[in-house]
Amino acid sequence: MKTITHWIGGKPVESVSGRFGPVYNPATGAQEKQVGFASVDEVDAAVATARAAFESWGSASLAKRTAVLFKYRELLDAHRDEIAELITAEHGKVHSDALGEVARGMEIVELACGISEKLKGELSTQVSSRVDVASIRQPLGVVAGITPFNFPAMVPMWMFPLAIACGNTFVLKPSEKDPSASFRLAELASEAGLPDGVLNIVQGDKVAVDRLLEHPDVVAVSFVGSTPIAKYIQLKGVEHDKRVQALGGAKNHMLVLPDADLDFAADQAINAAYGSAGERCMAVSVVVAVGDTGDELVAKIAERAKGLNIGPGNDPASEMGPLITREHRDKVASYVSGAAAQGAEVVVDGTGYTVEGHPECADGFFLGVSLLDKVPVTADAYKDEIFGPVLCVVRADTYDDAIKLINSSRWGNGTAIFTRDGGAARRFQLEVQAGMVGINVPIPVPVGYHSFGGWKDSLFGDLHIYGNDGIAFYTQGKVITTRWPDPSDGGINLGFPSHS
Ligand code: NAD
Repeated sequence: MKTITHWIGGKPVESVSGRFGPVYNPATGAQEKQVGFASVDEVDAAVATARAAFESWGSASLAKRTAVLFKYRELLDAHRDEIAELITAEHGKVHSDALGEVARGMEIVELACGISEKLKGELSTQVSSRVDVASIRQPLGVVAGITPFNFPAMVPMWMFPLAIACGNTFVLKPSEKDPSASFRLAELASEAGLPDGVLNIVQGDKVAVDRLLEHPDVVAVSFVGSTPIAKYIQLKGVEHDKRVQALGGAKNHMLVLPDADLDFAADQAINAAYGSAGERCMAVSVVVAVGDTGDELVAKIAERAKGLNIGPGNDPASEMGPLITREHRDKVASYVSGAAAQGAEVVVDGTGYTVEGHPECADGFFLGVSLLDKVPVTADAYKDEIFGPVLCVVRADTYDDAIKLINSSRWGNGTAIFTRDGGAARRFQLEVQAGMVGINVPIPVPVGYHSFGGWKDSLFGDLHIYGNDGIAFYTQGKVITTRWPDPSDGGINLGFPSHS
């Protein structure tokens, strides 16, 4: 069985901890690979390598850093299909979706190619007689990234391209469930000319994560994953004097006003709820139908949901693939029966789904799509992040009731409004408590040059990821006040410096 290794100092390094995790093909349910888990010593070796590489990379010229990034972008472009195939083989999402993930990750590499412009700094001349002030931003040192299973290429690319463009060196701890895509990303970075040790990968679990959080040479930690772990990372990281940005889970609401184009809204609800089997932090998991739209909207969503083609991600006919593990599939399914018992109407029940035409998928982690209507806000299906192909519909009498409902959620990642009324949309964008808002856009993931991040339990820390916030996160400010004295500048003055 193939064993996926660490990547340290520009080469594969086998784990000697004796601990391994299984890597499944979710479409067949078979374990096809294993991944070696890092011990504390193995993490220390990766951090030491990154620390040593920082000595030269941290002061490498912008010309040198960006030359590598431009070349990296070319290589990623040439290897899109191959990376997408690795994603599909271990995550399960369909190939077109995996390609989309690679493209969205490459946006951050493109942003990183232009880092010279972003790091230009500020200069004020003659703030006082013969005194100039410059503000510059410098790299931090060794930065760690810890990433979730659901975007095994894109989320690592939200982090390391910008971190290394800013002059840091990086240690990535990818999800143990689908580690191959990020390993390939590191190999390609090396091929692009990235010096050894600038980008390292340690595979593993909590042991590796905890060591990264405690290690005195790790200066900052970027995390993306579930809310309880995000909160843990934030608290433990800060306890160990790290700069932390920790992005957590979500429950994204899509508000549909009575004046919306209901066919368009139903299409978008389907795409955003069931794409990637609902395993997206920006998935729409709740539709809030306002006024008398509910019955017609639910009928339109149900009709579309029943026609979806669910199968292995490498079959071009499949629109949705399997879930990540058998346990997760079963947990997601339990929310459907649970919701029925807690007062919801099950309009479409996907729990008994079996894949046809693919005998090799008989033991795959498949689940059909489910649609739950009139879900009480007290039901677990409404309260929890299900992270699967289950869409809840909640009815609201008025816009005010709908916004109150959305704003009472513990999460505030993304949200969307569907309407033809510009005034209502404008009110929504100002009143809604979420970090990313879509107006007739169901999954408002910002482009690479705007930052991504939620509010409330969807993000711990203050800076969002990538875009300008990402650059601020991966650099520290320095202000330099300079005087080239003239003989007339002498003399004693104990007063606080002021300008004249
Ligand atoms: P997860 O929190 O289980 O795992 C994320 C990472 O943390 C993995 O690398 C994992 O190995 C590590 N980890 C898990 N348990 C740990 C522990 N006890 N101590 C230390 N480290 C631990 O998340 P997941 O299941 O891989 O991903 C799905 C979750 O990620 C969902 O909640 C989803 O909403 C969230 N997510 C959020 C965003 C966002 O941008 N806000 C993006 C993608 C995914």
